Amino acid sequence: MIDPANKRDEVADLLIVDGKVAPSSQLSTLNSQPDEIDAGNLIVCPGLIDIHVHLREPGFGHKETIESGARAAAAGGFTTVVCMPNTSPVADSPSTIAWIKDRAAAVACVHVLPTGAISKNLAGEELSPISSLAQAGVVAITDDGHCVQNHELMRRAVEYACMVGIPVLDECQDYNLVGRGVVNEGYWSTLLGLPGWPAAGEEVIVMRNILLAELCDHQIHCLHLTTAGSVRLLREARSRGVKVSGEVCPHHIALTDEAIQNFDTNYKMNPPLRAQADVDALLEGIADGTLSILCSDHAPHADFEKEVEFDAAPFGIIGLETELGLFLDLLVHKHRKIDIVRLIKMYTVEPARLLRINAGTLSIGAPADVTLIDPDLEWTVRIDKFESASRNSPFGGWKLKGRAVRTIVEGKTVWKL
Ligand SMILES: [Zn+2]
Repeated sequence: MIDPANKRDEVADLLIVDGKVAPSSQLSTLNSQPDEIDAGNLIVCPGLIDIHVHLREPGFGHKETIESGARAAAAGGFTTVVCMPNTSPVADSPSTIAWIKDRAAAVACVHVLPTGAISKNLAGEELSPISSLAQAGVVAITDDGHCVQNHELMRRAVEYACMVGIPVLDECQDYNLVGRGVVNEGYWSTLLGLPGWPAAGEEVIVMRNILLAELCDHQIHCLHLTTAGSVRLLREARSRGVKVSGEVCPHHIALTDEAIQNFDTNYKMNPPLRAQADVDALLEGIADGTLSILCSDHAPHADFEKEVEFDAAPFGIIGLETELGLFLDLLVHKHRKIDIVRLIKMYTVEPARLLRINAGTLSIGAPADVTLIDPDLEWTVRIDKFESASRNSPFGGWKLKGRAVRTIVEGKTVWKL
């Protein structure tokens, strides 16, 4: 059992009674013998949390639904996912948040926590009703998919978020610098004649967020960071105690921009795949704790949407069912940058602390959200077997080591291998 929240890493039994973690002393007082799961040779840990997922509903049910996205999460070992607000309508009003929560309660097999938009319709011009969104139950505000360019508006958003006690998640992208960019600006963009997306287009906004987190003394979390410069900026700011954090997606360490040379749109990401030096910096950032959260940026798109010219295709890939395998394989087994305890912490304690939610722990009385992991299981990614409604992944056929084998939400098994 690995439970970083309680600093536990030991061989032990886990007792679940009425959907909650119970003390093992309660075993003798139970009226009937409980069901037993043999988790020998497996890791039992708090249910994993993915704080960056696109479930596409309302509005884009042909890409993914809350129901299918939740099943994909369960199949990836996740018991809680945080969904992004770039839906149709945009999640910028309490009524849309209520719809998402109702829908999730009716059909989702894992916990679905909505975020609300920072700006109305993600237009970056006028703030959403942030305190009403907080009352409606959002765990954070973000314009993910977009980035508020007006620093003053962003400052007000951070101040409101501070007042209502939720973090701000930001996709770091300066529109003027990024322009029409679709791939990393560098050797491959030049060679292939594709519009480049410079690293500075990300780093300028990371710097902005550091300054605003400091000015407002409130948490800003930088979504899916990709460049060496972002890691350097974040490292310096965090060493001074600034309330800023960052996350990494598996594709940004598994691949470089070299992968785009056959124009396969399943390698078109936002932000784009970067150069090897950036990948190395991300790995160092993960190793030294500068980057504290792992996530998928699960971004489902239908085949007909992705099967167009590279320039015209939408950004993003699905990730819920491959992220744990990729991170275990790359971070723990291949590059040995972190141990599995740290990896579990980045998927449990860290996101729960950022979002201030009661999850990511096996404390007595906590909801019995549990993931069973076989860290040494070798498997091959089969996209046709995915629970997600979309198939846009570049990882089909990859051989990985380590995956979740059972996912338990409030004491009930919602998925098993
Ligand atoms: Zn996203």
